[in-house]
Amino acid sequence: MNIAENVALVRRNIAEAALAAGRDPEKIRLVAATKMNAASRVRQAIAAGVEICGENRVQEMLEKQAQGAYEGAELHFIGHLQKNKAKQVVGLAKLIHSVDSTELLTLISRLAEARGLVQDVLLEVNIAGEAAKSGFAPEDVPQALAFASQLPGVRVRGLMAIPPICSFPDQNRPFFLRMRKLFVDNGGKKYDNVSMDFLSMGMSGDYQEAIACGADLVRIGTAVFGPRDYSK
Ligand SMILES: *Cc1c(COP(=O)(O)O)cnc(C)c1O
Repeated sequence: MNIAENVALVRRNIAEAALAAGRDPEKIRLVAATKMNAASRVRQAIAAGVEICGENRVQEMLEKQAQGAYEGAELHFIGHLQKNKAKQVVGLAKLIHSVDSTELLTLISRLAEARGLVQDVLLEVNIAGEAAKSGFAPEDVPQALAFASQLPGVRVRGLMAIPPICSFPDQNRPFFLRMRKLFVDNGGKKYDNVSMDFLSMGMSGDYQEAIACGADLVRIGTAVFGPRDYSK
């Protein structure tokens, strides 16, 4: 299958999952996870109707940006963001999904302020408590939101999670449901500079399940572009 057919299939699946859950399909946004796909392939996805590209690595993003890869789409940053690279992402990415520490929040705010802008971010939550993954512990989210609300250069727009790689689609359901609860519980409390608009969760193996559990942003790579070539 080519990229255009993949995009069409993913969109159908998104709509089906949304309708089955009694949700408006229009409210669920597809983020094409473009890592390891060349600019020409990213452009094919955009031509096929992809409206948001999510990139993982700063260097790769800058190279592809210079090649005009993302023209016509919104650019999001979804990978782990090292502090020494934050300045290249602030202002370029419309939304940073992967803010995983108060130090990074402070830094992003400072960089954004220096440029006279407010950076939209999501807080990444380590929902399965995995040692190898970054993110706020679920119980630390209220504190992190209160902290972020004091920072003039960031606006928290929601939460993001990367649960374990799943070997069957509903394996991550408990984690998705826990994220949903965290999202709703913390959305009710009103913090300055925080509006809980987006819950970013679900990848190629489990996005329909994530949508059933309340995801608004699904980050999909393989189902759009095919398997990534790790041999290069
Ligand atoms: C690669 C990646 C995805 C997409 O993964 P697939 O399984 O290929 O759909 C989603 N989110 C993040 C943070 C990623 O790095």
